[in-house]
Amino acid sequence: MRIQFLGTGGYHPNSRRQTAGLFLAEQGILIDAGTGTYRLPELLRTEELDVFLTHGHLDHVIGLTYLLVPLELGQLKECRVHAAPEVLETVRQHLFAPGLFPMEPRFDYRELAERVELGGLTLTHHPLKHPGGSRGYKLTDGSVTLVAITDTTVDGTYDDFVRGADVLIHECYFSDENQKWCEVTGHSATTMVADLARRTAVGRLYLTHIDPYQPGEDPVGLATARELFLRTFVAEDLLTIEC
Ligand SMILES: [Zn+2]
Ligand SMILES: [Zn+2]
Repeated sequence: MRIQFLGTGGYHPNSRRQTAGLFLAEQGILIDAGTGTYRLPELLRTEELDVFLTHGHLDHVIGLTYLLVPLELGQLKECRVHAAPEVLETVRQHLFAPGLFPMEPRFDYRELAERVELGGLTLTHHPLKHPGGSRGYKLTDGSVTLVAITDTTVDGTYDDFVRGADVLIHECYFSDENQKWCEVTGHSATTMVADLARRTAVGRLYLTHIDPYQPGEDPVGLATARELFLRTFVAEDLLTIEC
């Protein structure tokens, strides 16, 4: 399985990171459509795209508006948008309100099924604690498993969902110094994420959804994470990983 980060920042883009997007070009699967979605047309290898939304916050859905052109030009023949009913409602009512974005792309909106089989992969999901809720996704081809978790505060409720994954992609908005903001904002900090990776015995951990106010080389304190879980990496935009 090959997956590429289209955006690794939270909230808003900065000079280093666009917002949320994980792309599996081979299968035509996109998890979240943040600002990094502008990169999609040059990376697309399929004529159909399945977008799975974690939740309806703007940094995860604004890129749906960028799919209008590939759909109108025929680069994309079909685009299915999968999400919980309330998320689809938010997108249709608000993101595509005529006063905000006057042309609605030809999306096929799909209420998220419990289990989706797509391009040789099985996709399942798990609810996460976040203002308004969010959803973590698990993808497996039968031999390897990848779990993508954003946006949430690590709370022990999804350990079993993550356990044993070959790759865990997890949000890490804050360094430990700013951990006090986790509960208020519904995000996670370094030690809590690294400890989750350690206790659930995943293969590798990639940190994403980084605070855009931290554009430097070490935004969340990688050494701290590696003390708990050595195989931790901070994802960068356009990084591709194999698992
Ligand atoms: Zn977010
Ligand atoms: Zn959010």
